[in-house]
Amino acid sequence: MNLHSGPTIEIDLDKIERNAAAIVSQCAEHGISVVGVTKVTCGMPHVARALLRAGVSALGESRLENVMRLRDAGITAPIMMLRIPPISSAPDVVDLVDVSLNSEIKVLRALSDAALARGRQHDVIIMVDLGDLREGVWPDDLMPFMDRVRELEGVRVIGMGANLSCYGGVVPTTENLGLLVRMVEEVEQRYGLNLQVVSGGNSSSLPLMRAGGLPKRVNQLRIGEAIMLGRETIHGTPWHDTVQDAFTIRAEIIELKRKPSVPLGVTTRDAFGGQPSFSDRGVRLRAILNTGREDVLIDGLRPLDPRIAILGASSDHMILDVEDSSEPLSVGDRVAFLPDYGALLAAMTSAYIHKVPRTARRLARDLKRVTLLYEAPESFPQRSEIDTTLPELGVEPRWQPIVPLPVAVEFDTLAASIEYALALSESVAEAIRANTIPVLLGDNDVQRVAAFLALRRLRPDYGLIIFDAHANFHTPASREESCPGRMILAAALGHGIERLNLPFPLINPENTVLVGVRQVAPEERALLERSRVTVFTIEDIDSLGIREVIESAIRIASMGTMATHVSVDMDVLDPEQVPKLRMPVEGGLTYREAHLCMETIARSRILCSLDILPIQNRPGADPRMAHTATAMLLSVFGKRIFRRSQPRL
Ligand SMILES: *Cc1c(COP(=O)(O)O)cnc(C)c1O
Repeated sequence: MNLHSGPTIEIDLDKIERNAAAIVSQCAEHGISVVGVTKVTCGMPHVARALLRAGVSALGESRLENVMRLRDAGITAPIMMLRIPPISSAPDVVDLVDVSLNSEIKVLRALSDAALARGRQHDVIIMVDLGDLREGVWPDDLMPFMDRVRELEGVRVIGMGANLSCYGGVVPTTENLGLLVRMVEEVEQRYGLNLQVVSGGNSSSLPLMRAGGLPKRVNQLRIGEAIMLGRETIHGTPWHDTVQDAFTIRAEIIELKRKPSVPLGVTTRDAFGGQPSFSDRGVRLRAILNTGREDVLIDGLRPLDPRIAILGASSDHMILDVEDSSEPLSVGDRVAFLPDYGALLAAMTSAYIHKVPRTARRLARDLKRVTLLYEAPESFPQRSEIDTTLPELGVEPRWQPIVPLPVAVEFDTLAASIEYALALSESVAEAIRANTIPVLLGDNDVQRVAAFLALRRLRPDYGLIIFDAHANFHTPASREESCPGRMILAAALGHGIERLNLPFPLINPENTVLVGVRQVAPEERALLERSRVTVFTIEDIDSLGIREVIESAIRIASMGTMATHVSVDMDVLDPEQVPKLRMPVEGGLTYREAHLCMETIARSRILCSLDILPIQNRPGADPRMAHTATAMLLSVFGKRIFRRSQPRL
């Protein structure tokens, strides 16, 4: 079943990054730092990363769920809580965000208590109401309020701020923001403080800034809409050096017919209780799309083709006049729309609309060399086969020895394994910096962590496809015997290794896919289900077919990412194909299925790094192991078994 035949919203990360970069540099000219607001995208990590690449100083969010989504994706940048927090979530606010906007003493007390309980202080910005009548302390009440805030030892007031043109539509001016600055100065004098931050509003403050009208002390703006939609919000006009089409909503034509423009028969109210009116334009070509009020805010959509008009919509249907459309249309075509802020918000929160982040930057296209990382390159059994075949496939191989595994193949503790992986990650990082594709030929699952560590540092947004019979989602708590290999994915997400000071999570769960899993313990399942990682079990492969599964896996791993890492544990194959595995699990992929996966990855040209294990090149190891691993390796670089090899382009 193609679940993605419904409406989609495409999110052009490159455009968002360029918009953000333009605004960051305009603001810098006025001494202002930008908090990039991701709330309209529900905290989409890809968007957050685009904003961070563009140089925003922090991220702004209004919901803890979204903040968790960002933190789960490994985003460690400072996050500002924009919506004044409810008392009930004070402990979570202290745990998850770096600074929050506040206006209630009770909430501040709860934040202070929660911070003290953790032996810390929580940073706050006190909001002042300049007349817009949404959040903020009324100016007359400010000093008594501040007297009480100053008594709270767990909160540190780092600044003051205001929010305008939200509820009351009050326009930011030199006068009302001047009042904010005067209050800042009064507070500073009264308490002998120096407030670092004067947060002067949202996208609606940009026109005043550009006109040079922002008071000097204002040094921060919190910008969402101007970055996402390229518009200032006072007049709704396109903002300087930004584009307005970073988001496009598309839906499919399910009926296309010529019909009269006025209904026949006696008319009453429509499905939503409205009294429709019609003007007679004769018989016109009309299209019905597979979307409706359940998904999008119809009034907030503008067809990309200005010659198409929206006539109306019910819950699941949208009706267009396409008589004059610029391109001839047919049933099955997708029609594109640009959303306004409300329509964007509705689309991003709709469960029916598929979110598709995109970037045109694909690192794999420029990678023409491979670094094979192996304990003892000279003794790899198929080295000459690899050295002759890879050049035929368009990539140059070079070999690099790596830190050998400690003598005991199984490590005592997870921490010891990660320490080893950390040392090994240097070799992977070097191969990446040399602009090559690292191929880690390993013997133990913990070696994969080396790849994750290097990628997290150098390609933080990477996607990941893992072929493995096991989920590897154990934690030291859920598994008695010491087998760190079975814990590495949970560990990569930061579970069970709290004491290590590493940038956990090491992987991006929303872009991580497990393929071929057939052994998941009940203790692993709970953690896996909460993890945002996609799993295709062997049963999914049976019912969907391997082609559908691998295509979905590639789509998920590469969606909005610049690089993809592929991890192959040979135990994904059926034990009949790979004898003498340490932990064989019956019923795995066939040789052909595994090759089809590798060939499909080769054709998709997303591969930026790879690990294959275990190779088991120790005395007594079965030579078929390295042989099969080599076959997988050559296949993922484009070697076909039955057809002539095609070089990577
Ligand atoms: C949403 C929000 C912003 C961002 O507003 P835009 O108009 O999207 O720039 C800034 N500050 C606060 C408090 C917000 O809630």
